[in-house]
Amino acid sequence: MTNKINSTIKNVPFIRNDQYNFIQFQIKNLVHAHLTTQDQGVLNALKLSSLDKIYTLLPNINESQKALLNKVVSIEKDYQAESFLSELKYYVTPFKNITEKTITKLFPKAKKLKGPPLEEIDFKEISYLGWYDIRSERKFLIVDYNGKLKGIQGSFQENNKGICSLCNHHEDIGLFMSKVKAGKETYTNRGNYICSDSHRCNQNLILLDGLNKFVELLRK
Ligand SMILES: [Zn+2]
Repeated sequence: MTNKINSTIKNVPFIRNDQYNFIQFQIKNLVHAHLTTQDQGVLNALKLSSLDKIYTLLPNINESQKALLNKVVSIEKDYQAESFLSELKYYVTPFKNITEKTITKLFPKAKKLKGPPLEEIDFKEISYLGWYDIRSERKFLIVDYNGKLKGIQGSFQENNKGICSLCNHHEDIGLFMSKVKAGKETYTNRGNYICSDSHRCNQNLILLDGLNKFVELLRK
């Protein structure tokens, strides 16, 4: 009985998608280091610094969560990384639930807006939901800003390769521009370059800074 309770507590999700990606990034670095150097001093230093970065990222974790994350230092090979990451995935908090109704509510003026195929989306793998609507030729984003869902829409001009302002990676990007209320009856256009492929962007995200800045830039 006690064991059952303990394991229930232990299995409560405690990391977000971006934090999962951050940990994955640290682990990939470690695996790569094991391929390129035999120097135990270097490897040990790297292990400790990776773990330190993860602890800094998650300052409020409990002992069992710490014990789980400590496994990072024993990862040397790809298959170990994969097995750990699939275990860790269990502890990822999914993005807030989004239904067709949520989409209609967040974009009341977008008539007959077709959302993305929600049943195909793994909500544990997103920090925001983004899709391009061919009919209106606009890009739509749903973000969780300060604990509340917010809808952002804008024109999207496909560009070339460049740095995405959300994930900070070099990807296929486009210019997202949104009409923002500047005064009582005046509007101004604001925007930035973001990934064309929002799924990829979500996999790249290891920090929410870019996403939050983007939302603030477009805030009315
Ligand atoms: Zn991106």
